[in-house]
Amino acid sequence: MFQNITYAMTCIYCNGSCIKKGFQKNGNQKLFCKKCIKWQQVKYSNRACHTETNIKISTLVKEGCGIRSIGRILKISPTTTIARIKQIAKNIKKPLTLSNKTYEVDELRTFVGNKTNLYWVVCAYERETKKIIDFNIGKRTKRTLQAITSKLELSHARKIYTDGLLMYKYILSKSTHCCNPVSINRIERMNLNLRTHLKRLNRRTICFTRSVIMLSACLKIYFWG
Ligand SMILES: [Zn+2]
Repeated sequence: MFQNITYAMTCIYCNGSCIKKGFQKNGNQKLFCKKCIKWQQVKYSNRACHTETNIKISTLVKEGCGIRSIGRILKISPTTTIARIKQIAKNIKKPLTLSNKTYEVDELRTFVGNKTNLYWVVCAYERETKKIIDFNIGKRTKRTLQAITSKLELSHARKIYTDGLLMYKYILSKSTHCCNPVSINRIERMNLNLRTHLKRLNRRTICFTRSVIMLSACLKIYFWG
């Protein structure tokens, strides 16, 4: 008797009228639109479905909130927060590497999983646009560095400035490579920004990243989101 009564609520998709049809497990009234054959609810308890949630999540990531704190602020579960961060990062595209530019390359030391598992974030900073154009996460090996440097060399970089790490001498050609501690000031400052703005990169705290995927996703959102 209670079902199939025309309800005063209008459809959010077509502005037609909906009918009451059953309840959700949490007691919320379900509505059904016969015109566009879509289900909807009088009120939503699950806040993650709102369209602005993704925008709020990426803003909070950039402001240095951890996953659990984002969950608490937006009243969504940490699991949903993790899934959304991954989804947002997946849709972000890396900027194009243009030819004939000057770069600074540096490594940032961090941990993944526990405080003994060292990882390095290698970033390439473009001087003209003042932006990070690429980064790679891994152990402090030739392969991790090469993923960035080979891309820069392929784009015919004018000059690549690095710190005194010996490995750069072997993987970069002498004509483009320049090793000078003063010349990487800008990227060192960028690293300092990263450490201040992202909770998981803060020093002398108990915060650290649990997985490389999440670190990569958060950096992507911070740089290009
Ligand atoms: Zn409708």
